[in-house]
Amino acid sequence: MSASRVLVLNSGSSSVKYQLLDMRDSTRLAMGLVERIGEQSSRIRHTHVGADDTREWSGPIADHDAALKAVSEELAKDGLGLDSRELAAIGHRVVHGGKTFTEPTVIDDAVLAEIERLIPVAPLHNPANLTGIRTAQALRPDLPQVAVFDTAFHTTMPESAARYAIDVRTADEHRVRRYGFHGTSHAYVSRATAKLLGKAPEDVNVIVLHLGNGASASAVRGGRCVDTSMGLTPLEGLVMGTRSGDMDPAVIFHLARVGGMSIDEIDALLNKKSGLVGLCGDNDMREIRRRVDEGDEEAKLAFDIYIHRLKKYIGAYYAVLGTVDAIAFTAGVGENAAAVREAAVAGLETLGLAVDGALNAVRGDEPRLISPADARVKVAVVPTDEELEIATQTYALVGRY
Ligand code: ADP
Repeated sequence: MSASRVLVLNSGSSSVKYQLLDMRDSTRLAMGLVERIGEQSSRIRHTHVGADDTREWSGPIADHDAALKAVSEELAKDGLGLDSRELAAIGHRVVHGGKTFTEPTVIDDAVLAEIERLIPVAPLHNPANLTGIRTAQALRPDLPQVAVFDTAFHTTMPESAARYAIDVRTADEHRVRRYGFHGTSHAYVSRATAKLLGKAPEDVNVIVLHLGNGASASAVRGGRCVDTSMGLTPLEGLVMGTRSGDMDPAVIFHLARVGGMSIDEIDALLNKKSGLVGLCGDNDMREIRRRVDEGDEEAKLAFDIYIHRLKKYIGAYYAVLGTVDAIAFTAGVGENAAAVREAAVAGLETLGLAVDGALNAVRGDEPRLISPADARVKVAVVPTDEELEIATQTYALVGRY
């Protein structure tokens, strides 16, 4: 029997999320999270999916090397150790692939060097992703390692959507352009939406709304991304849990010149203390809805601002695509918050958009339609699965390798 397991690693600066999948039937064998790497109170939470067994422990985990060894030990306890010959490859989520990486890529020294060269445009993410790759390579030097880039799906955007209207030479010198993120999710969800409609991805136009703590929208024409709301960094676009999304860039000059704030302070303000949390103190949509239901005015305004921006993007991407077959809601808020879905399409009946109240209220883990049966544009809830998509792409590549 040839090796059929893929380990998916999502390495952050102080955390590693992982899943082990069997690609013969795309099932999850184990999954978990190592948090607070480098602290005394590091924590690992590991689930052996088949046995429905979750274990947690905490203690110092010094670095990514120690984290991966801890993961390996947990997997070994389940008979799923990383030294197994069943392991076919390791797939890594890499946040920024710039213009270079348009597809999943088997990692070699040149690929590592290019991911490193992209650090200036992804200073928070690419270094952590690189550490994860190097650690995994040291653990299993014999195994193919694949990088799956968050930006890759968006590299099909035309220049008219990807370029900012700023001086071309300055933009090119500093690689300033719109890259987009969450690409693995937008790719997976747009394809799953086509399947839900019983059509091939090439035959449908879809607006994907990935609404998690980070949030982004994309316009997908015939399976190819033609626009997305995040830009040079994930700060642009929708109102998010802690990020502002779109605003006049001159707000930054104003805060620096008049407010006396440093660039780092403004960076932290816009990325960490803005969005829903900046508007009302909460970034969890469940809590915001609870407060709205209790008549809390601050939470209501935060919700309204969130919905207003979302509706603007639906309208914008409708115009970009010309004809739209479906709008797909995904990620934590998109999959769970019926009130967000209802409010986002309210009043858009003339665009052929509506939500059926009863269908929208149903909860579930499967892709489903929530628009009335005769709707011109379908509205769908499509749970995203970035780890499965990374594993699928990794396995497909290694199979050919
Ligand atoms: P990320 O991967 O960006 O951290 P997720 O896709 O996991 O985010 O989404 C997290 C968000 O989903 C939470 O901040 C929360 O607001 C929202 N969420 C999760 N469950 C629900 C729910 N039942 N109702 C409303 N919002 C929810």
